[in-house]
Formats: sequence, C-alpha cells, structure tokens
Amino acid sequence: MTTTLDKAAIKARYAQERDKRIRADGNDQYIHIDDQLAHYLDDPYLPVQPRAAKTDHVTVAIIGAGFAGLVTGARLVEQGVTDLRIIDKAGDVGGTWYWNRYPGAQCDTASMIYMPLLEETGYMPSEKYAHAPEILEHCQRIANHYDLYRDTLFHTQVTEVRWEADASRWRIRSNRGDDFTAQFITMGTGPLHMPKLPGIPGIEDFQGHSFHTSRWDYDYTGGDAAGAPMEKLADKRVALIGTGATAVQCVPHLARACGDLYVCQRTPSSVDARENEAIDAQWFAEIASPGWQRRWMENFAANQTGKPVEEDLVNDGWTDIAHRFFARLAALSPEDMANPAKWAGAWEDADLEKMEEIRARVDQVVQDSETAAQLKAWYNQLCKRPCFHDAYLDAFNLPATHLLDTDGQGVEKITPAGVVVNGVEVAVDCIVYASGFEVGTQRTDRTGFEVYGRNGLSLTDYWEKGMRSLHGLTVRNFPNAFLIQFSQGANLISNVPHNIVESALSAASVIGHAVATGRRTVEPAEGAENAWVELILSGLGQTLPSAECTPGYYNNEGQPIPEEAHSYVGHPQGPVAFFEFIQQWRDAGDYDGLEFDQA
Ligand code: NDP
Repeated sequence: MTTTLDKAAIKARYAQERDKRIRADGNDQYIHIDDQLAHYLDDPYLPVQPRAAKTDHVTVAIIGAGFAGLVTGARLVEQGVTDLRIIDKAGDVGGTWYWNRYPGAQCDTASMIYMPLLEETGYMPSEKYAHAPEILEHCQRIANHYDLYRDTLFHTQVTEVRWEADASRWRIRSNRGDDFTAQFITMGTGPLHMPKLPGIPGIEDFQGHSFHTSRWDYDYTGGDAAGAPMEKLADKRVALIGTGATAVQCVPHLARACGDLYVCQRTPSSVDARENEAIDAQWFAEIASPGWQRRWMENFAANQTGKPVEEDLVNDGWTDIAHRFFARLAALSPEDMANPAKWAGAWEDADLEKMEEIRARVDQVVQDSETAAQLKAWYNQLCKRPCFHDAYLDAFNLPATHLLDTDGQGVEKITPAGVVVNGVEVAVDCIVYASGFEVGTQRTDRTGFEVYGRNGLSLTDYWEKGMRSLHGLTVRNFPNAFLIQFSQGANLISNVPHNIVESALSAASVIGHAVATGRRTVEPAEGAENAWVELILSGLGQTLPSAECTPGYYNNEGQPIPEEAHSYVGHPQGPVAFFEFIQQWRDAGDYDGLEFDQA
C-alpha cells in the first residue's frame, strides 16, 4: 500500500513531469500529411489497380472496410440486404489492420473479444493477443464468409457524400472519378486513422530513408509482417521517433534487427506485463457454446465497469485496472460512496499502486540504472494509453539499442544526416515515425470527405457546437446515414469492436426494416435527438483525462478541452447500460425516436 508521504512525492513528480511537456502549440505541433509529405501516405503493400468509375446505384454504400464496415456488411447480409458496396482507401479490407503491419503489431485487447464475428465465422484465434497478420486474415475471412468482396472499391478515397432529397438517396463521389448513388450510407471511418508526423524543424530535409509505422517499408527493412527477421537493417542505424503503443510493439523487433537502434523518447509509456499465450483448441471447444462471444464481450464490459459478475473471463491488464478501483470503491462507507471526492481518492490510490508496480518492473528488467530511470512513466496510468509487453523493456538491455531520452522536450531538429537530441546530432540511415494518428483535428482532415445532408447542411456545421445524434447512430438532417462508432453510445474504449458490433447490429436492423417495409427514408425525430443529446450530456460519460495529466491525444495535448469535445462521450450510466438499452430498442422493433418516410 502506498503511504501518504509517497503519494505527495509521487504527485509532485507527476506535476513536474507534466509541466516539462506542456507546449503552447498543443495539437498544432503535429503535421497534417499532405502536399510534399503526401508520399508518407502511399500504400506500400498493394499496387493501385486501374478500374472504370462507378456511376450506378446501390442500396447501401459502406464507407470504410475496417471492422466497422465489415461487421455492418455482415449484419446487413444476415438481414437479407445484399446490394452493398464497400469503399475504402486501402487496397483491401482490414482498416487499421490493413495499414498497421509494423513488426510485432498485435491486438492489446484479448482476441476472444477483440476479433469480431469469431463465432459466426467459426474461427478460433491462435493466441490470447493475436498478431496483425492473423487479424488481417480474419478481416478477409469475414469478407469472404459474407460475400462482401462482390462489390468493393479499394484504393478509393470518398471525397464527398451529398443527400439528394428529390430522389431520397445519397450521391457519393471519390478520387477515382466515381459518382454513384445509394439509398443508405454507413460510415465506419475509424477513430485513429490518419497518420500524423511530428512538426520537428527540418523534417523535410532528411536525406536518408523514412516512413511512418502505419506504412511499414519491408522493401527497405527486409523481413515481413509475419515476423521474418529484417535482415536488411543489420548494417543500418535507425532512429525511431515515439514511444507510444506502436513503438512498444515494434522496438523489440527493431532492436534485434538494426545495426544500431536509437529510440527517441519524449514521454515513456507505462508498460505492464503482456502474458500472451496460445489458445488451446480443446479448451476453446469447451467454452465455445452458442452465444459465447457475446457472453465474453459482455463479461469484459461488466468487469471493466464494476458491474456485479461472478467471473472475469478475459482476466487481463484492463480488467485488473478496473478491479483495483472497484475493490477500493466497495470498501467505502455508504456516506463516502455518495461523495465524488472519495471516488476520486479511491481511483488515485488504485492508480498510484499500479503505477508503482509498473515502475518497479522497469528496475527488475532493465539492467542499466540510468536507462531504467528514464523509462519510468510518471503520470496516472489512464492519462495515456496503457501498454502491455513482455519484450519491450528487455530490448534496452541489447547493446545495439540506445535510448535517446529527451527529458520531455522531443527531438529538437532533423538534419539531412539524422536527428538532433539534447544538442547532439545522431547520424542515421533511416527514421521511423511512430508518431501516431490525428485526433481532435478537423473531422474532414481525418476522414477526407464532407457529408452534406438536407438543404446542403454539412455535418461539420451541424456539429459545430458538438456531436448530435440519436444513440450515436443516426443524425437529424442526415437521413439514411448511419455512424458505426462509439461516441454517444457505449464509449467502451478498452474494447472498441464491442461498440462496433452493437452499432452495426442497430444499423442493419433499421436498414433491414426500412427495406423490408418499403420505406424510403429514416431519420431521428428532432425531439428524440435533442433528448438523447441531453441525456448524454447529463452524466460524466467517459470523462476525459484531466488537465493534470501529462499531455497526449487523450487530453488535447494538455490544452483546454474545447467545449464541443465534451459531447464525444458515452451513456451516463456506462457501457453496460447502453448495450442493454440498445438491444431492447432494436428488439422492440418500432425503433422509437426514428421517423420513417419523411422525405
Ligand atoms: P501515439 O500517439 O500514442 O504516440 C506517438 C509518440 O510520438 C508518443 O510517444 C509521442 O510522445 C511521440 N512524439 C511526438 N512528437 C515527438 C517529438 N517531437 N519527439 C519525440 N517524440 C515525439 O501513437 P501510437 O501509434 O503509438 O499509438 C496510437 C494509438 O493507436 C494508441 O494509443 C492505441 O490506441 C492505438 N494502438 C493500439 C495498438 C493495439 O491495440 N495493439 C497498438 C498500437 C497502437 P509524447 O508521448 O510525449 O507525446
């Protein structure tokens, strides 16, 4: 148990480390990739195939071929709606898992609940945390199983969708000259999808090779996403910029492969144990009775949010965080339970205890004491994405791995020859940017297209003061359009696919009903949308990490959170309450709050 004295000292250290990292430019420190940097977005995996532009009509256009689009397609097929077209800027299905093929990529949430439609496709994941090639293959399995490849537009960036009220349909335009229509559209464009680069002076001057982790250049490094050694790096000096969840997974592989690896660190990640293991076929056969995956997802959500459950099926780092907090909460007296400050205290105690363990783990693994000290994270665990890995810290014991800690300041400069850190130039052959993805930037910068609803109203304008929706699924003034995502829904961030599975079920259910009953349009009633937004804003939802957190994309890089961002939260009673509600809403069959045929 952490003593009071320790607590004060630790919190002072947290504040000190945070203050070092606060920058006036906040999120503007990052570069939106376009113009002369656009090559960082090129697809290194598949060539763009020439094709004729589409000018026809489909029943449903599914924008995004990641988990969201695939599960939506699958659920629509189950509803008997098969006139579907999937559009994605990638060269195949997979979304995140199409792009992120960096060495060591794997899911951080257990495969059993992270990989959607396992039960429907009859697939058993090979590991508790599956690696990227297996997840990409599973995406392809879903597409094949539901015959979703039949009509796909890959390497296609949607540039605009526009509602045509006269014909009650959407017009979809793309960068490949497509100009077709659809009665319905679904949008599953992903929360972390547009790679970003750090705005380090000189970034355009580097004369060596460079790429972003989401566009891994195996031609340059050798090896492959399946884990073959990157033999071409044996004589190379490589700088990796960033130490977030991506870097944590690829560092062990780079460390083994590179002549010299320079890990440029601004803020250390908290790295807890991974404890991955193979899934046993016999065990799986025993647990995989009908409805198993839904039970597992619901069990995880309940454990994560402190609902009474008898067992913890997933039992990992995510549920451990929750158990520690809820155990402390349960120990409070009834009066203290009603006091938010006591809740915060319980949370803080659980967090401090956990982070002390994570820091102690660094000392246990990393041999050089100075390096170990630099790898310790000094902030509350949920200020940044918690990471889990069994080989990351150990990689710093290899002689070729050099930690270039910048004491919170970041890489100072990039020169034609390399990186400048703490005033010293380190010459490298290659720079790998593990610098993450755009969050909190213009929605159209992230998705690449605007949505124009009734009377030419853009979604950007409609949401100027914050997101508005019914159930995080449909939006007034944007008929026949469905969002496949988590905000204003469950907002269960620790298992994004669970949100998507439910969202897709809802979208497919409404579309299926509209098609079966010959309705032309469906849209939330104004009052219903207002009431839903009011409900969403009435609670804490998923609170954003506080201003006391060290900067990162979770807290708008330490700058004040814009008012409108407070609408991107979940149901006030939490994910489990939302999942129960939305299932009842679907099952009732009258789709309360939606207006049909109001074209
Ligand atoms: P992040 O945004 O988490 O990390 C970016 C990194 O770049 C940070 O370490 C950041 O430092 C660093 N950085 C930025 N600018 C500079 C600079 N000027 N000098 C030095 N370092 C700099 O991106 P990731 O790709 O790692 O992860 C993004 C998200 O993707 C994760 O949070 C997670 O949600 C998801 N993800 C999930 C995985 C999974 O489930 N398996 C695996 C990988 C990613 P600082 O912290 O100081 O800002």
